[in-house]
Amino acid sequence: MNAVPQERRVVTAIPGPKSQELQARRLDAVAGGVGSTLPVFTQRAGGGIIEDVDGNRLIDFGSGIAVTSVGASAEAVVRRASAQLQDFTHTCFMVTPYEGYVEVCEALAELTPGDHAKKSALFNSGAEAVENAVKIARSYTKRQAVVVFDHGYHGRTNLTMALTSKNMPYKQGFGPFAPEVYRVPVAYGYRWPTGAENCGPEAAAQAIDQISKQIGADNVAAIIIEPVLGEGGFIEPAKGFLPAIVKFANDNGIVFVADEIQSGFCRTGQWFACEDEGIVPDLITTAKGIAGGLPLAAVTGRAEIMDSVHGGGLGGTYGGNPVACAGALGAIETMKELDLNGKAKRIEEVMKARLTAMQEKFPVIGDIRGRGAMVAIELVKDPATKEPYAEAAGALAKACHAEGLLVLTCGTYGNVLRFLPPLVIGEDLLNEGLDIIENAFARI
Ligand SMILES: *Cc1c(COP(=O)(O)O)cnc(C)c1O
Repeated sequence: MNAVPQERRVVTAIPGPKSQELQARRLDAVAGGVGSTLPVFTQRAGGGIIEDVDGNRLIDFGSGIAVTSVGASAEAVVRRASAQLQDFTHTCFMVTPYEGYVEVCEALAELTPGDHAKKSALFNSGAEAVENAVKIARSYTKRQAVVVFDHGYHGRTNLTMALTSKNMPYKQGFGPFAPEVYRVPVAYGYRWPTGAENCGPEAAAQAIDQISKQIGADNVAAIIIEPVLGEGGFIEPAKGFLPAIVKFANDNGIVFVADEIQSGFCRTGQWFACEDEGIVPDLITTAKGIAGGLPLAAVTGRAEIMDSVHGGGLGGTYGGNPVACAGALGAIETMKELDLNGKAKRIEEVMKARLTAMQEKFPVIGDIRGRGAMVAIELVKDPATKEPYAEAAGALAKACHAEGLLVLTCGTYGNVLRFLPPLVIGEDLLNEGLDIIENAFARI
């Protein structure tokens, strides 16, 4: 384990004087469009703690947006990546290949759902993986249309902006967007007009009807969905929705793509969130948690789909960088050794019990949802009207930050507080973080 002591410590204002100094330099040098949730500059991080340049130690409920599931300095990640750095930093897999890339693809074939023959291609970022999933699906089906869902998030490149639902801040002013992208309803149980019980089948019927009538199933190359929607507010599609969409895709020769970039690699207490309803995607995109903080992403899928692309049609200079691959092998080793699926399930148990007790005291908590260590609360002005309460989410996040707990917000209406602790966080820190949230509610 990393040497960062696993205890919260607040010794200055947050952000402290050194962070403020760095922030002033940053404002002069870094483009204004690049934001930060909390401008506290990091000195070191590991386990469940981020230590800043002023010596404050924050409890981490963000994991750098669901990336550092194994911690930000996991022993196996650091060891393997350091050894690889000594050997060589880069050759480009498309020029002269190396074993680590192959090993990561073998691990992906083993860990992703389904026992069919699978192949993978590696990239640098989630958006790049999603772009490549679309390229592969179009090449395989010889069709063009791509179907995505309300509240979906798939990245910030041109094609993935088109696939993403929310305008501000992701799309505003950045058009024109890629064509042949169509958006249909998702089974958002908490806000479904006829209630959560009816939501799965009704939303699936609406989505399928729109695809059939507005696009034509024969024109659709791919249907892309996050099995738990991340940026959109940790929405778990109501039961029955995903299987119905998968069946429709299978019946119509459409490639079903599970975007597990946020929900994958033990985050929801399973290797992949789509396992929850026994779904076997044709293609699966991964990134974020895959490599313990090093930049790596992948598309994994049925061998015949992956191999439909002509030689040289996929790749990129850095895709599957050897240091990132070594990091991924270290992260996967850690996930297995420490049973991080079990840890994620335990985090869910602790969090949901505490949050449910809070909901009884604070009716502003309209909904508690998510799976594993991907848990969120949706805040509303009145539980009867469910009017989104974004100001409360912002104020609560700020109050938590001041006490040394890093939390993130999300959601189409900006009214969701999301909790994504590293899966290796100690239970004492987890409970201390929840105490801070409870106190923040009491004060607001
Ligand atoms: C973060 C994310 C992406 C984009 O990944 P980047 O590495 O930021 O490009 C795509 N899809 C989902 C579901 C994500 O959470």
